[in-house]
Amino acid sequence: MADMHELAVTESILEIANQAAAENGASRVTDIYLTIGQLSSVVDDSVQFYWDHISQGTPSEGAILHFQRVPARLRCKACGNEYELNEELMPCPACGSIALEIMSGEELLVNHIDILKEEE
Ligand SMILES: [Zn+2]
Repeated sequence: MADMHELAVTESILEIANQAAAENGASRVTDIYLTIGQLSSVVDDSVQFYWDHISQGTPSEGAILHFQRVPARLRCKACGNEYELNEELMPCPACGSIALEIMSGEELLVNHIDILKEEE
């Protein structure tokens, strides 16, 4: 089930996209490329669900959302080892410690926006 977190996230994506359209004199936003950290709790389907509703009547209506998941990076607080997560959260492969610091992987970024400029 979707929750309010995704709604807030989707609203900020919409704001960024519509602003980009306005700044560039674009009539329409066609594609939005999102980079989402592996550890982000954001669910693609939920964002898409909200998107279909809240983008209506804005320059971003009908724009396609592209989700790209990027691996998380962790740093071991015990030995300083830095490593990339494969699937699930795992202890430090070097020393087995679970005292870990998340370097990246919780982010959600609007990476790139494609817009359509009205001719003339
Ligand atoms: Zn370690």
